[in-house]
Amino acid sequence: MSNYYGAVQLTAELVKIDSTNPTGNESEVISFIASWLDKEGISYELQEVETNRSNLIARVKGHGKRAPIVVIAHCDTVPLGEGWTHDPLGAEIEDGKMYGRGTSDMKAGVAAALYALKEVKNEMLPGDFVVAVSVDEEGPSMKGIMKMIEDKVIDKYTMVIAPEPTSLDIIRAHRGVMWYEITTHGKASHAGHAERGVDANHAMAEIICELKSAVNALPFDHQLLKKSLLSIGKLQGGAKTNVVPDKAVAEIDFRVVPPMDARDANELVRKAVSRAITFVPNATVEIKNLGLERDPVETPSDAEVIQRITKSYTKVVGNPPVQDGYVAYTDAAVTSWILGNKNAVCFGPGNLEQAHSIDEWASVKEIELCSEIFIDMALTE
Ligand SMILES: [Zn+2]
Repeated sequence: MSNYYGAVQLTAELVKIDSTNPTGNESEVISFIASWLDKEGISYELQEVETNRSNLIARVKGHGKRAPIVVIAHCDTVPLGEGWTHDPLGAEIEDGKMYGRGTSDMKAGVAAALYALKEVKNEMLPGDFVVAVSVDEEGPSMKGIMKMIEDKVIDKYTMVIAPEPTSLDIIRAHRGVMWYEITTHGKASHAGHAERGVDANHAMAEIICELKSAVNALPFDHQLLKKSLLSIGKLQGGAKTNVVPDKAVAEIDFRVVPPMDARDANELVRKAVSRAITFVPNATVEIKNLGLERDPVETPSDAEVIQRITKSYTKVVGNPPVQDGYVAYTDAAVTSWILGNKNAVCFGPGNLEQAHSIDEWASVKEIELCSEIFIDMALTE
């Protein structure tokens, strides 16, 4: 058993506590972490996000010789779902894998960071090492990280690590996410007199084709994030086979890569839609943003946080880590996006394929390695 097996045991204890979101039920896991910290004599504060939902910020103070390192780890998980062959709250270990909801995403990351905090609590640290446990990362508004930003737990210069399941790769780029609802209006008529109507479904079909070609024609391919992607998540139109439809509604998800930003994405959508609607005379269209409007973000490959992870990783593992991009938006991405922070990445045990899946698991070895790397980072000047 390695010296870091404590991180694995702590992961198991966290997995056994149900903290699925929805319904936003993180209070039990937060109380567990609070009493664990009490027992270890590590100080922390609770930060109320909404009734019964609090972030927890635990800190071992350093001497200000390096900027604080803040590990932002979310403690909510997606719902358990059905079809498991292992107990989703059982944390069973088999062939070096721990099974359970939230093992990869991301109770292993929470535990690796907390265990590191315990291991360095009596050391003279060159800078603060902070574990900030967030709630509601899996929710659409990511209220936990928003509260941390509002209350200045982190700022533009903090080194931020979100221990998402990255298989211990460094994730330094995230696609932006834009959501739209597009509604076309036409005029209903009997299909036998289709020339008297205006076909809203036809207008929507033209719009979809135009949007797809506009996105496919984008001239750039990002090194880590590849191409921008657009999909039609939901489509509704018409009532009956023999009636020309007067209304169609589509919901669009647009994943944007640099150099585009949210504004460019809006512009592309607006232009493509205006072009397409002219193909169906007398049809009209409305575009509504569905509340998700997030820029793509990228941390430079030589950022201090990346240099520090690389140094400690290489020392522990024996070779340097891989740098990559991510398809999902995370607390690290929000940090870069809202604060303009250029020192925020994801780095953690478990892999993204396991996140949100049935029979989710995380590698026991990676949990131990991650904790060892965090400890080395905390101690390094
Ligand atoms: Zn996650």
